[in-house]
Amino acid sequence: MTFEQLELDPVLVRALAEMGYAKPTTIQSQVIPEAMSGRDIMASAPTGTGKTAAFLLPVCQHLLDFPRRNAGPTRILILTPTRELAMQIGDDAKKIVKHTPLKVEVITGGVHESQHLPALTKTTDIVVATPGRLLQYIEEESFDSRDIEMLVLDEADRMLDMGFIREVDRIAAEARWRRQTMLFSATLEGKSLMKFAADLLSNPVQLS
Ligand code: AMP
Repeated sequence: MTFEQLELDPVLVRALAEMGYAKPTTIQSQVIPEAMSGRDIMASAPTGTGKTAAFLLPVCQHLLDFPRRNAGPTRILILTPTRELAMQIGDDAKKIVKHTPLKVEVITGGVHESQHLPALTKTTDIVVATPGRLLQYIEEESFDSRDIEMLVLDEADRMLDMGFIREVDRIAAEARWRRQTMLFSATLEGKSLMKFAADLLSNPVQLS
């Protein structure tokens, strides 16, 4: 299996080659076709499996397939539990979109609000965020979630363990016009995780 066979745009495949990604990992070859078909995804994928690119690539392909005519609010929202993970995902996303016009911003706690102004005022296609700070901006009406088309929940089990359930539920409710949701978790076990997934996903494909 190659990235070309996954029907990814050559501009994305070129960026992957520059990152040293020669061929898809198992989770990438499982998730990318299902995600590109528009299905909701529920995947058990620990860190180190290549899960980040597994959700970033279908997201980027969607944005390239359906370019925006006019500037507007964020179209893709990726939630992750910690600032470090958000920075890491943001860095990977910026590398993957390097040869495209797509814009990525990271919103986390521990950073002065002024640093988030670009994400909040400019046209940004993809926002990677931790739930607490993003919800604060939604409540202050400085982040517009109306145009979110896809929501990605990364490390969902850790977000629950860290007590972010209320924030994630509120954010998902704000992003109610989305057409697709992807949930990634180290494991797909436990009552609270399964209920959380059942509430947020619609007829998901389950992958592990
Ligand atoms: P992740 O599970 O997303 O944290 O990725 C684990 C590590 O694998 C990271 O260092 C990625 O840069 C790397 N990686 C992800 N996908 C690939 C790939 N297709 N080929 C080579 N390395 C990859």
